[in-house]
Amino acid sequence: MEQRLRLYKILVEEIATCTRCRLHESRKNPVPGEGPVPSRIMIVGEAPGRREDEAGRPFVGQAGKLLDKLLSLAGLTRREVYITNVVKCRPPGNRDPRQDEIAACSPYLQRQVQLVEPEIIMAVGRIAGATLYRMAGLRWRGIRAERGRLVHGAIAGRRVGIYPTFHPAAALYNREVLPMLEEDFRRLGEILRGGRGKSLLDFL
Ligand code: SF4
Repeated sequence: MEQRLRLYKILVEEIATCTRCRLHESRKNPVPGEGPVPSRIMIVGEAPGRREDEAGRPFVGQAGKLLDKLLSLAGLTRREVYITNVVKCRPPGNRDPRQDEIAACSPYLQRQVQLVEPEIIMAVGRIAGATLYRMAGLRWRGIRAERGRLVHGAIAGRRVGIYPTFHPAAALYNREVLPMLEEDFRRLGEILRGGRGKSLLDFL
């Protein structure tokens, strides 16, 4: 355990001084992620927004408040899950992260998966979903086709379940997304309750 936390601390320090892609030029603070290490559940979004960039913490704005409510539908609190993003620095103007930026930052996410050892990674949003599917060698057919499906794959040598859904921010702009998000988080809760005492991978 001590070794795991030591390696995690090194990872956070590397992200804090990282200049591997252009996003370091405009960030106020890198946002490595937070939560218990290890953790059964990992939530991965796409990138920090303005509030996250200011705070250096993931999901602290309106989308973060909604995420907390959605987690409660799954019977979870934020303190029980590890939360991070595909890229650790805010893209200017909240644009989508570019492929070269995702490629530069992906080794950090892979190391987080190795250290956090999640059984399920919940990919919130199309960019997180597409990135995690690519890492696992799976074919991504778009968020509407893949949402609410638990699939399995190997990321950084670890067998994990990947469970895509919409990004909570999408529900702030498009109210039709909210019922689907709620359904996906409730389903996550059912999977977790069904998996008590067993490996969640038995449900894949
Ligand atoms: S986004 Fe990732 S790769 Fe780019 S500077 Fe930030 S930590 Fe480094």
